[in-house]
Amino acid sequence: MECRNCKNTLKHKFADLESSPPSNSFISEEGLNEVEHYYPLKIFVCEKCFLVQVDEYKKTETIFDDSYAYFSSFSKSWLEHAKKYSYEIKDYLDLNSESMVIEVASNDGYLLKNFKDMGIPCLGVEPTKNTAKVSMQKGIETICEFFGEELGKYLVNQNKQADLIIGNNVLAHVPDIHDFVQGFTETLKPEGIVTLEFPYLVNLIKLNQFDTIYHEHFSYLSITAIKDVFGKHDLEIFKIDELDTHGGSLRVYVKRVESKRAITPSVGKILDLEKEVGIDKIEFYENFQEKCDTIKLELLEFLISKKKEGAKVAAYGAAAKGNTLLNYCGVKKDLLSFVVDASPYKQGKYLPGSRIPVVNMDVLLKEKPDYIIILPWNLKTEITALLKEKCDWNYKLVVPIPALEIFEE
Ligand SMILES: [Zn+2]
Repeated sequence: MECRNCKNTLKHKFADLESSPPSNSFISEEGLNEVEHYYPLKIFVCEKCFLVQVDEYKKTETIFDDSYAYFSSFSKSWLEHAKKYSYEIKDYLDLNSESMVIEVASNDGYLLKNFKDMGIPCLGVEPTKNTAKVSMQKGIETICEFFGEELGKYLVNQNKQADLIIGNNVLAHVPDIHDFVQGFTETLKPEGIVTLEFPYLVNLIKLNQFDTIYHEHFSYLSITAIKDVFGKHDLEIFKIDELDTHGGSLRVYVKRVESKRAITPSVGKILDLEKEVGIDKIEFYENFQEKCDTIKLELLEFLISKKKEGAKVAAYGAAAKGNTLLNYCGVKKDLLSFVVDASPYKQGKYLPGSRIPVVNMDVLLKEKPDYIIILPWNLKTEITALLKEKCDWNYKLVVPIPALEIFEE
């Protein structure tokens, strides 16, 4: 396999999570009698450019098809995060009714809605039909396509050059990272900028977040690796914010190399930090498999011991990361009865692979499990508070990552 960035032949394995179905392909009742497609989930690290990456086993079109079930608007804290960002960036760039904001992977319009409300012209680019449809119903102009060089050229032809391009949790999702980044180069106005948010590889490694590895995530990003990618498209990072979202993300601000904007000290700070941890040494990436396996054993030991005790265990949050975890651990509904999720698009369906039923809150209140595992650990505070408000029996909460933790609230 070739490196997505530098074409070097990949030989260093970072993690092998066996095989599993795509994490967002939830199964309907009728689908239970159908065959499910499993793909290997093997991650490599390039020893030349240090891009951590999964091989593309599954065609992108079939991952982001009509059954794709991720709707951004069902996480309250994510909506708040998006709103705060919208106001901040409006002031930072002085955006007004003459500006153009484009969001790539605009999902159901959860973010662009804020720009629309502020009277700033905006456009969404979203390849999944069902989410794009919801976005259009909110009155947000949305193009149902994959972003890249070709679409960038088309947008410029349509007089849609951007002052701001936003890409949240999408850079890691693109199979052809060079075509995608060239799309920015095509679409940006001379002083326009791109802001991108993505989970940070250093946190993934330090905090054992192996469940954030799934087929839809082609790359796992450090600044060292993506700086090199942008450079090949006459773009450079000029500012970096460190964020708490998704277990520790970065927001990078990217400009054209020839732009007059100054590079802030935040960039050098992160690059120094990466040097310090050894991001450009292969040793930094070794032993990650052992960490994955420790978590697997801890979770299985917990589930098996509770099963023996006759305790009832359920989970909250049918997030993609939960599917990686449950499938790697080989957990099925005999060990974990059901998963509660707020999204009606997931309720009544079954988790890919494990086939654990996804139910609504009423089932949780009726079944009163002794233990509730919070699968989206990045939303631990939000979910803990929600459960405290709704549940009136004695239960314990469990978070499996970075290490199995059982607590009461
Ligand atoms: Zn490489």
